[in-house]
Amino acid sequence: MTDQPRDLDDNTCDLRKGEIARAWEQLVATARRTVADRLVVGTSGNVSVRVGDLVLVTPSGVPYDRLAPGDVTGVDLDGRQVLGTLTPTSELPMHLAVHRTTDARAVVHTHAVHATAVSTLLTELPPVHYMTGALGGPVRVAPYATYGTEELARNLLDALTGRTACLLQNHGTLTYGATLDQAYDRTAQLEWMCHLWLTAASVPGRTPNLLTEEQIREAGEKLSGYGQRDAR
Ligand code: 13P
Ligand code: ZN
Repeated sequence: MTDQPRDLDDNTCDLRKGEIARAWEQLVATARRTVADRLVVGTSGNVSVRVGDLVLVTPSGVPYDRLAPGDVTGVDLDGRQVLGTLTPTSELPMHLAVHRTTDARAVVHTHAVHATAVSTLLTELPPVHYMTGALGGPVRVAPYATYGTEELARNLLDALTGRTACLLQNHGTLTYGATLDQAYDRTAQLEWMCHLWLTAASVPGRTPNLLTEEQIREAGEKLSGYGQRDAR
């Protein structure tokens, strides 16, 4: 064993190699989607996905359209790089904190504009829509700390208690899920709800109606069975 980052060696069975390659492909596709859907600009934001005890992450500061199958970047749950030679995302503390303490299989961080705007104005996103229930309740804002720090990771974990999403003050969003698609969808829903709140709250002389805890809980329960019964 060596502490140096490495490629998948001959001892890694083909099944696992295939699993890692597929997960990397999905991670890159998700990262590209955050740019295409304008949830980030340039190389902002980052994505991670778990394959067993391995955490695949986007490399720091590399445009997502340049990432190739050979750029697989992976760390263990202690943050030691075990795959690839590109430097992992600077937000490794945040991603690992979520992977270590929740049942997350995927984490998405963005600088989505409406969500970031809300993070500068409030300490919690008011429950203006029932989709609040899909995220575990009103989304909290984690107090500001410098990007990439353990302090930011700690603030984030507090804000995530009982939730699958939070805002990072003057910075952006973080969501997690059982899959990359679920984590991504939660980010998109959060950004949409922040846009909704900013729109409703900006009508002069009017204040948006907010949902009660009971209404949010009921919607959350119903949403857990939303959609088709068979996974497609
Ligand atoms: P990385 O390019 O290092 O992932 O950083 C982007 C970012 O959003 C930091 O908060
Ligand atoms: Zn960021």
